[in-house]
Amino acid sequence: MSIFNPLQIQVGVSACLLGQQVRFDGGHKRSEFVEKELSRYFSFIPVCPELAIGLGVPRKAIRLVKRNEMIHVEASDGSFDVTEKLTAFAQNKTAELGHLAGYILCAKSPSCGMERVRVYSPQGSVKEGRGVFARILMAQNPLLPVEEDGRLCDPLLRENFVTRVFAYHDWLSLKHDGITRGKLIAFHSRYKYLLFAHQPSAYKALGKLLGDSVTFSLEQLSDRYISGLMQGLQHPISRKNHTNVLQHLQGYFKKQLTPEQKTELHNTIDKYRRGLVPLMVPMILLQHYLREYPNPYLTAQVYLNPHPEDLALRYGL
Ligand code: SF4
Repeated sequence: MSIFNPLQIQVGVSACLLGQQVRFDGGHKRSEFVEKELSRYFSFIPVCPELAIGLGVPRKAIRLVKRNEMIHVEASDGSFDVTEKLTAFAQNKTAELGHLAGYILCAKSPSCGMERVRVYSPQGSVKEGRGVFARILMAQNPLLPVEEDGRLCDPLLRENFVTRVFAYHDWLSLKHDGITRGKLIAFHSRYKYLLFAHQPSAYKALGKLLGDSVTFSLEQLSDRYISGLMQGLQHPISRKNHTNVLQHLQGYFKKQLTPEQKTELHNTIDKYRRGLVPLMVPMILLQHYLREYPNPYLTAQVYLNPHPEDLALRYGL
């Protein structure tokens, strides 16, 4: 049953990534980042589809097999087929997960793998499949931020995923409170620079959508808005786009800063643009000026704090 709690960011996870010994060989695939870091902020809902359909531990390994253009899930020795059971479980389970703000899947698994899962056929094998549970989860929840453990080792993908989870939870909280046109516009206002950094064209399109909002019912408007926002946020932010946003934010302080301070801020952003300092250097300077010269509009910008600082996700960017 789907129960949304605005005080908890609930995220689904392949159970083996939390260290649960549910793999076919009795082992696990513990992810330090998931278990140690993210669990400080996310409330994880572990799911092991293979265990849930009654395959025990240990069990025969299963794999994706392509026959007559259909994907089957079979024991590696061909002794049983769990396609129907796994599909039925995935359909029922994922229908209960509308309260989740994200999902972390275990790579390469014929059940949980998000991409490049090995598919066997009489001609050999190719890494072109998606695990059965992952496929149904993603098809039934197209807005849900989903990532794999392996891809989360990439600093850019990691930061992007966590940003999307926090944003989606924010959206689910807004829905839980009850959306109005006014609340939707206020929400968009907070996401302005974040979305602008991820994908300027999505930012323009959503601004236009809200500008023409009288032509849509509130439900249509909300659906179109969140779809555009989540698609836009999927684009990792380039250095060029960060620079562009930082330069816009710099403009808010033009009346308060001394010429020396302006030069320092300008030079710091330019050093970031040239790859000489990490993103956090101009960000810290901007945050410092924001504390000195408070501006409620800027303070509310999610771009400045998309996720908790102590996750240190922007330090490597
Ligand atoms: S990858 Fe999925 S099915 Fe396999 S052990 Fe982990 S949670 Fe279970």
